[in-house]
Amino acid sequence: AEGIPALPLPQPVKVKEIRHTKIFINNEWHTSIRGRTFPTFNPATGVKICDVEEADKEDVDKAVDAAKAAQRRGSPWRRMDASSRGRLLRKLAELMERDRLLLATLETLDTGKPFLQSFFIDLDGCIKTMHYYAGWADKIHGKSLPVDENFVCFTKHEPVGVCGAIIPWNFPLLMFMWKIAPALSCGNTVVIKPAEQTPLSALHLGSLIKEAGFPPGVVNIIPGFGPTAGAAIASHMEIDKVAFTGSTEVGHLIKEAAAKSNLKRVTLELGGKNPCIVFADCDLQLAVEETQKGAFYNQGQCCTAASRVFVEESIYEEFVRCSIENAKRIVIGDPLDPQTSHGPQIDHQQFDKIMDLIESGKKEGARLEYGGAAVGEKSLFIQPTIFSGVKDHMRIAKEEIFGPVQCILSFKSQQEVIERANSSQYGLVSAIFTRSMDRALSVSASLETGTVWINCYNALHVQAPFGGYKMSGNGRELGEYALAEYSEVKAVTIKLSETL
Ligand code: NAD
Repeated sequence: AEGIPALPLPQPVKVKEIRHTKIFINNEWHTSIRGRTFPTFNPATGVKICDVEEADKEDVDKAVDAAKAAQRRGSPWRRMDASSRGRLLRKLAELMERDRLLLATLETLDTGKPFLQSFFIDLDGCIKTMHYYAGWADKIHGKSLPVDENFVCFTKHEPVGVCGAIIPWNFPLLMFMWKIAPALSCGNTVVIKPAEQTPLSALHLGSLIKEAGFPPGVVNIIPGFGPTAGAAIASHMEIDKVAFTGSTEVGHLIKEAAAKSNLKRVTLELGGKNPCIVFADCDLQLAVEETQKGAFYNQGQCCTAASRVFVEESIYEEFVRCSIENAKRIVIGDPLDPQTSHGPQIDHQQFDKIMDLIESGKKEGARLEYGGAAVGEKSLFIQPTIFSGVKDHMRIAKEEIFGPVQCILSFKSQQEVIERANSSQYGLVSAIFTRSMDRALSVSASLETGTVWINCYNALHVQAPFGGYKMSGNGRELGEYALAEYSEVKAVTIKLSETL
């Protein structure tokens, strides 16, 4: 994948024993109050890696108490200078760099994503995110406002308080960073639940958070399941904000729970059915490579997956042919092997959902051009799959597949393709491939998505905001924009006794 340099390549570490498997509260390791554990598996082999302490509602309560105490006026965290807070974030970034091989190995063992991608892409994103928000910590300030009459008014940006976070399994470390980095930069405290499929890298981060010197209770990590620990976060009366990344279905539940409890602030990062528009005047090879990277990266398990590729009629056949050739270069195999570029899906539930959608594509009349089958028996590997002749009404053109399936559709006119691209409940990202910047900019203005990529794909940068229009979510992560999601604004107004 892009971003992976030539030799010498880093090697995964040999993990003999998983050191951190407990609930992390107040900078200490806790067992579950109900005395339960749950197993986590290596999706590449199906072998259990270890058991992890299972947090439920009572453990969430304990974590929230710790986060509240750490947030109280006069606490070490509240009294800390903003610049010292920034230094702590920077220290955490440095510790992630020190443990980068181990973190990338844990991420690959627990998710099945190829090790070099974990090392060069996920870890790079994590470290950059932490450094970026470390830099913001002492630059979060309000304004002085010219109000009417004899008053002076200024604003202050204050922490929201205790921030809950619920994250998915597709980018466990990166999503952890996207949540905690802006939250801590603004001075909040955090209770975060990793996905039940992938708790291990998050728990190692707990040890680094303690080592970096964050005061107890500032970050609390609650491994557990959605309907128990996750729901307890969403409906907690003492959590002031919740940030969620995952399915649209659960996004509804989070907002509902927030509304029914204490009206906590909610930011949501949900699904996508992301359109790519490939015009006949594009650099064809670039468009083929980027759209396919978009479709297959992380085994297609991305909210940004390039799942509807609209290609102008005159280059359609050539585009399909080149896409098939390009797909032949993908190497399926052991994710720890540096040659591997394509690993397994995360679990049986996802595997079954993807295979069902592939079957639906065949039944509804799309042409299977490449792949379409599982690799081996009883494994979670699915071949990179290409469908051509896809029509808008087919399930594969409407539903989020979250697997390695590229759907190629054709279009005749610019107006038509804009309408079709926008006719989705989602609005996360889109991409345009053309040599005409004029056309690219006018089409980008018409697309109802939070991000538009021009002649590139998955070009995520920590400085640029990320989030969805429509049902792809609420709010923005990354960049300066994310700071607003983790701050309350206070207006202070002073009456002057005299004017000169
Ligand atoms: P999910 O939404 O169920 O899980 C995401 C997180 O939410 C996990 O931490 C989970 O424990 C938690 N959760 C689940 N139910 C909850 C509840 N009732 N209350 C609070 N938290 C809850 O996603 P999934 O079941 O793992 O995957 C299903 C589909 O979701 C995928 O096929 C894909 O379409 C989508 N998905 C999207 C993303 C993304 O990055 N936007 C990530 C993962 C999955």
